[in-house]
Amino acid sequence: MPSASAATNRAAADAPDPVERIPHLVGGEPRAGSSGRTSPVFNPATGRQTGELPMANADEVDEAVAAALAAFDEWRCVSVARRTKLMFAYRNLVVENAEEIAKRLTAEHGKVLADAIGEVARGVENIEYACGLSEHLKGTYNEQASSGVDVYSVRRPLGVVAGITPFNFPAMVPLWMFPNAVACGNTFVLKPSPRDPSAASFIAELFHEAGFPGGVLNVVHGDHVAVNRLLEHPEVQAVSFVGSTPVARHVYETATAHGKRVQALGGAKNHMVVLPDADIDLAADSAVSAAYGSAGERCMAISVAVAVGDSADPLVDAIRARMEKLRIGPGDDPASEMGPLITAEHRDRVADYVRQGAEAGARVVVDGRKAHFEGDGFFLGVTLLDEVTPDMTVYRDEIFGPVLCVVRVGTYHEAVDLLRHNPWGNGAAIFTRDGGAARQFQEDADAGMVGLNVPIPVPVGYHSFGGWKESAFGAHAIYGPEGVHFYTKPKVMTTRWPDPAGSRVDLGFPTNR
Ligand code: NAD
Repeated sequence: MPSASAATNRAAADAPDPVERIPHLVGGEPRAGSSGRTSPVFNPATGRQTGELPMANADEVDEAVAAALAAFDEWRCVSVARRTKLMFAYRNLVVENAEEIAKRLTAEHGKVLADAIGEVARGVENIEYACGLSEHLKGTYNEQASSGVDVYSVRRPLGVVAGITPFNFPAMVPLWMFPNAVACGNTFVLKPSPRDPSAASFIAELFHEAGFPGGVLNVVHGDHVAVNRLLEHPEVQAVSFVGSTPVARHVYETATAHGKRVQALGGAKNHMVVLPDADIDLAADSAVSAAYGSAGERCMAISVAVAVGDSADPLVDAIRARMEKLRIGPGDDPASEMGPLITAEHRDRVADYVRQGAEAGARVVVDGRKAHFEGDGFFLGVTLLDEVTPDMTVYRDEIFGPVLCVVRVGTYHEAVDLLRHNPWGNGAAIFTRDGGAARQFQEDADAGMVGLNVPIPVPVGYHSFGGWKESAFGAHAIYGPEGVHFYTKPKVMTTRWPDPAGSRVDLGFPTNR
């Protein structure tokens, strides 16, 4: 794996990186792949190919589902105590290997190592939640619902569950899914993003090292061919998807048409409203980290700052001043605060949005296209566009790069209207010192996750994550209590036992009555 230090990277700048062949993982065993199709994996900081990924065909997906199905009958009967012990062992292994996972994230995604370590920590929260499965799977019981009749319910696993994940959190998003699914007694087939698959493969290997039986978690690599087979496969009971809105819609429509339970989380355009009474330094610090952190490739990134009234000029000045100090460079250099974008094509697409914004009349306060970078990495500077209006493509589209748009409005109500008319509803934030305004925003914000003086309100692992409108399809949010509900189905027992005192049953021993 390309996990060398920054110094080593620089020294070896001209040496070709070794290309690692990344296998599928089926029934606990690595599989080289037999489709004949492969896809290159790059280090975005150098632009060099570092890996080669097999792209599964339908038969290979079928093999992974068959392995998961074979494991299910035994796994669902494993005691809660044993499942809990395994989950704790897994949690400890992931924590012990956090730095190694983070290095893989940086090497293939490009995010800076501190971000990558943060990603692993947020993933671990979900394993820790899954460790509490004895609490989560407690049923309910009503005595004497009717005379001599008791009613109780339990939650049963679904069977084989599939997870399809995006490139931007290659370890955390899989961890949103499979620990809870498996804790509930399901078996799992994971299809990671082909752009940065190594971290997902590594955390799956650790899962088996922790002692989970082969077949409980399987990994198939691939593209739409593998995804579409999972969506149609008769033995896949449920699909968890995280990615862009068009693909989320396709996944939702196809998998539900095949009778599956689906949660499909899509894209976003998150707004941060700044009221005139806000602490401008706090708002500007938050905007810079939330807009440009991880090169803006976060579904909870702030991409629109809505400046209300007099806040606009000081806010734009404060953001610009901070942008000038941002250090952009390879993620494994401790001095870097922002890394490259995921691919050269994506970098060019983001740069083109800056051109479109400028041509449409936005004021380019800082132009990321002017930043110069040595080498062939997929770097782009940070951009601040002011005086953006809702008709511009830079406002309408999810850019998913280091571009922050400022929309100026006169009142709080205009700000809330913008959110209401935006097709997405993942996150929204407000910056203010006024508790009443903040409380009103909590009510008004048309989004699934709301931050009050918090720019990226990603819920902790024991709540659940989910947007509204085009940011999510399906009834359940992901992870936490909603995750447990998604991965289980209720079974309700209604029982009547003849009353021994009525002597309808001879117990063969005296009763108390
Ligand atoms: P993507 O939609 O391109 O890919 C996601 C997954 O779908 C990948 O595994 C990919 O291989 C697969 N896929 C891609 N095209 C497909 C097709 N035509 N048919 C079937 N499967 C297909 O997303 P991405 O570029 O990897 O990730 C970025 C997107 O994910 C952004 O839109 C971002 O907002 C979103 N995202 C959302 C959340 C959330 O929680 N709402 C979290 C992270 C990322």
